[in-house]
Amino acid sequence: MIPAAFEYERAGSVEDAIELLGRDGDAKILAGGHSLVPAMKLRIARPTLLVDIGRIDDLRFVREDGDRIVVGALSRHMDVAADPSLRTSCAIVAAAAEGIGDPQVRHRGTIGGSIVHGDPASDFCSIVLALDAELVARGPDGERTIAAADFFTGPFQTALGPREVLTEIRFPKVPRGVYLKFSRRAQDWATVGVAAAEVNGAVHVGLTSMGGTPLRAAAVEQALASGASHAEAASHAAEGADPPGDVSGSSAYRAHLAQVLVARALDRL
Ligand code: FAD
Repeated sequence: MIPAAFEYERAGSVEDAIELLGRDGDAKILAGGHSLVPAMKLRIARPTLLVDIGRIDDLRFVREDGDRIVVGALSRHMDVAADPSLRTSCAIVAAAAEGIGDPQVRHRGTIGGSIVHGDPASDFCSIVLALDAELVARGPDGERTIAAADFFTGPFQTALGPREVLTEIRFPKVPRGVYLKFSRRAQDWATVGVAAAEVNGAVHVGLTSMGGTPLRAAAVEQALASGASHAEAASHAAEGADPPGDVSGSSAYRAHLAQVLVARALDRL
């Protein structure tokens, strides 16, 4: 399939990107292109201007900042998987990156692109939600920080404005975290994914592919806080979720799978 016609501009900096985005109401940022370009080929997305941020090296970093680890939005999945700070202090993020797609996807796809795309099947989206990460965006009105809980507003929709660039993701250090992903075949997207981590003394659980947006398994978290066993807490995994049915599994199958994976993730945690 051939995308609809579009213009292309390469941004030299975040400010440059914001200015370029202002030139065309149907402009879109291009990062790794591994979600946007397929959508353009299917003509689900028809931007008339692509603003390529792929060479803004300032956005490609991982650094420790006190009790947080800050990851630049343009860090590729392979950067995240291999980073020593993440592997030590936020291993759930590095491990999830390692399991995304195939080597080609991991060498081109970026953490920022994954999160802004807002795909409920994306591995990083449920993890930022479970970890209460902060998302930093820069736009024409300056910089703002958005809590992960406020970021995912609908299927493939986020709180980011059309001229805002996601610049970094701030993760808390969580020595104990587990991401379990069940796929039909190696390298497939998650049929269901479960992120479980201890954040500020409480167990948080995020769900991948269990609804129109990434979700927190609030009923599981409440049950654990009330002293329920892992098995009892996990039985609430699908409460409040709206799992899709597709070739990877029916809605009922996903609901059952979520319970199994949550129990395993809690045991492992
Ligand atoms: P792009 O495609 O360039 O952009 C995606 C969207 O985000 C666009 O709307 C773009 O405008 C916007 N955007 C990008 N960066 C920014 C930014 N900094 N600020 C504001 N807006 C921005 N993902 C998984 O989670 N798990 C998988 O198992 C998985 N398997 C895959 C298998 C294949 C074969 C492919 C092609 C993709 C797979 N993916 C998977 C998706 C992959 O992780 C993509 O890289 C990711 O979804 C998008 O990142 P990107 O950098 O390519 O973003």
